[in-house]
Amino acid sequence: MKHVTKKKKTFNKIEKNPSLLGFGCMRFPLLDEEDSTSIDEARAEAMIDFAYKRGVNYFDTAYPYHGGASEPFMGRVLKKYPRDRFYLASKMPGWEVETLDDVKRIFDEQLKRCQVDYFDYYLCHALSEKNLEVYKIPGVMAYLSALKAEGKIKYLGFSFHDTPAVLEEIIAYHDWDFVQLQINYLDWDFQDAKRQYALAKEAGLPVIVMEPVRGGTLAHLSKPAAQLLKHHHPKLSIASWAMRYVASLDQVICVLSGMSNQEQTLDNIETLTDFKPLDHKEEDTLSKALAIFLESRIIPCTKCNYCMPCPYGVDIPKVFDIYNQYKIDEKENFFNHRYEAIDAKKRADQCVSCQECLEKCPQHIDIPTLMGEIDRFYQKIKAAKT
Ligand code: SF4
Ligand code: SF4
Repeated sequence: MKHVTKKKKTFNKIEKNPSLLGFGCMRFPLLDEEDSTSIDEARAEAMIDFAYKRGVNYFDTAYPYHGGASEPFMGRVLKKYPRDRFYLASKMPGWEVETLDDVKRIFDEQLKRCQVDYFDYYLCHALSEKNLEVYKIPGVMAYLSALKAEGKIKYLGFSFHDTPAVLEEIIAYHDWDFVQLQINYLDWDFQDAKRQYALAKEAGLPVIVMEPVRGGTLAHLSKPAAQLLKHHHPKLSIASWAMRYVASLDQVICVLSGMSNQEQTLDNIETLTDFKPLDHKEEDTLSKALAIFLESRIIPCTKCNYCMPCPYGVDIPKVFDIYNQYKIDEKENFFNHRYEAIDAKKRADQCVSCQECLEKCPQHIDIPTLMGEIDRFYQKIKAAKT
């Protein structure tokens, strides 16, 4: 059986590269779509087992994923495998931290939840200019370094959501082993992921990629953009182009995908087995498809849920998702049908512009303004129908 590729390029800081495909543990299938903690464990475990057998050995969980249910679930599933046959990554939720004791308590709780003695990769979660302050609390970095010296953390890094200038500051702040960045062919220019990647490369940091398909957005391009890609490779999925784009970058050792079903798992595995980087013709086709796709002007939401819960009940990612689907297919009837399927208490008109979500969004989306626009759009369609 063929296994998922490992990057050949070596890095001083990482002893062995993990599999090029990493399993993101934040989008497992659910038993109840309204309850993020209700992981469909039987289906999710079957996906993980299948991926493991095909050589996927990197599993990326975090304290808040699935409302806290991801870490314990991964602990139960991975327990059946030899500890030295997989890499487990988790993250310190800086926004839950006020003191050094919080860091100690949360880290110990994470080891227990995951039923492990150590994390292979451990990250300061979603570092930004604001979140960096937590790691300036006296003793916090020294404590994380001590965990590394004790072997409870093998590699220490951070995931990141801010500007390239802040990234530069964070890279210089500590002797990190790796960095996790949001890179995909849409954000390469749109959010200057290109500059972020260049900074990591200059610093010699191996890169783990998150959101390669941008929360699924790059798996469902607008029709003309998708047609262009299908014309080039009729048998390849639209998502596979996004996975190959980031896997082609030489500093990248692992591409995370938050897989939600077996079909995605299989497609990702096929894409990154015997991996071949994009050639010049493919790069050219992809850049033409992106130009066409950008004409649809979608909202850059990755469905990460960091903005939730909204104190006024708005289901922010769902509202954006439905609006984006409209931007892509331009079918007003479908928009109406999907939008009205959202509970009336969770729609855009419930937004009172309290601004509470603004700071939480790593994509810096002006959520309240867009809620107003989406509600006006919906009211216009509704009025035209009556
Ligand atoms: S600004 Fe609107 S969407 Fe955001 S938290 Fe406040 S009410 Fe909710
Ligand atoms: S609006 Fe921002 S924080 Fe909320 S789900 Fe989308 S990207 Fe995440």
